[in-house]
Amino acid sequence: MQFKDLKLNKPILKAISEKKYEIPTPIQEYTIPLILDKKDVIASAQTGTGKTAAFALPILQLLYDKQNEGKSGKKIRALIVSPTRELAIQINENFNRYSKYTNLKSAVIFGGASIDPQKEILKKGVDILIATPGRLLDLHKQDIIHLSFIETLVLDEADLMLDMGFIDDVRKIERLCPSQKQILLFSATMPHKVVNLANTLLTDPERVEISPTSSTTKSVNQILYYTPKPQKVELCLHLLRNTIKGNILIFRRTKHGVDKLEKSLLKNDYKVASIHGDKSQSERQEALNDFKKGKVNILIATDVASRGIDIKELDAVINFDIPNISETYVHRIGRTGRAGNKGTSYSLCSADEKSYVISIQKLINKFIPVEEEHPYPLDPLAKPEVHKKAGSKHKKGRKSEGSKKKKKRWY
Ligand code: AMP
Repeated sequence: MQFKDLKLNKPILKAISEKKYEIPTPIQEYTIPLILDKKDVIASAQTGTGKTAAFALPILQLLYDKQNEGKSGKKIRALIVSPTRELAIQINENFNRYSKYTNLKSAVIFGGASIDPQKEILKKGVDILIATPGRLLDLHKQDIIHLSFIETLVLDEADLMLDMGFIDDVRKIERLCPSQKQILLFSATMPHKVVNLANTLLTDPERVEISPTSSTTKSVNQILYYTPKPQKVELCLHLLRNTIKGNILIFRRTKHGVDKLEKSLLKNDYKVASIHGDKSQSERQEALNDFKKGKVNILIATDVASRGIDIKELDAVINFDIPNISETYVHRIGRTGRAGNKGTSYSLCSADEKSYVISIQKLINKFIPVEEEHPYPLDPLAKPEVHKKAGSKHKKGRKSEGSKKKKKRWY
């Protein structure tokens, strides 16, 4: 399937070819025709699958067609609600690129930044608005934003939006829009509360599911290191010196952990930046820009702060802490190996995290190869047992465990 088979207009196809997208990703292939057909869509797909273009391209096309029919005038006709400022900014950047050859205008508004410049932009008129919920409601209350012309409402990263406590805001925003509109809901995971929200807001939605386990884990080379907790920093430094090169994203579970590791790496002369929820918007944006522009090649982040952020050409992800929620592992490693590229994930597991590894392996239905050749090994007796009810791939793993010559072992 080619982009032209998706019946997109020339100005949009031109912008896509400039981005050097050759073929649509699966989420784009399934979702674009549904959106063009004006259907409500509930899609489970995470960042890295090309989901921004999956909604941005058909939205632009629908608006562009109307503009050509002379029904233009700068009124907000597409609204994208996003949980975090970073994500909102990123979505707007994408809209700007894809709309380059149309005269459609998009703008982004978010909290934690001065409101006046945002008001100025809105006063000039935009066709597409990307917003975080709080700032959107604030500007609506001040009568700066009018939602009565909305034709398409996108709820992006719905699971994160609900986790962050935005449920009431989201419902309020939906009610402020006209009742006749298209709603598109994207979520990395589909917990009950997201399904419930979709059931109450969407009309006869089409469902699209892009499996995170198959779509992201295949293109990522995964390696597991067992090591005692106190030696994780040493192991991380050893890997950075000898094994891991390029642009690296390191995940830590807590904000405190992020700060601590950043200090250790800075002390060892690495070029590092970090993002977490306690940092101000400008600090977070600066860290991201430094990383994107190559001023630093290591970014340390918590899961929430980094969620959805699109960082190109990420060579490696380090799970400094093993996540206790298995889906988080899939999200984290999905940050590398994106849109067809190859990437590697390095997971550092201490004795107390072994049960998390077992759950992750069950979820991805695969054993993560273990690298034993490193200077900070964990006592072998402390390693986790093989999961007894494993499927065929697990049995294969057990066989190779017996082979003493093998450098990499399967658990
Ligand atoms: P997203 O999931 O929207 O964050 O997109 C992840 C990355 O994939 C972004 O850097 C996009 O520019 C890129 N991308 C999106 N669609 C395609 C495509 N069809 N071919 C190649 N790259 C793409």
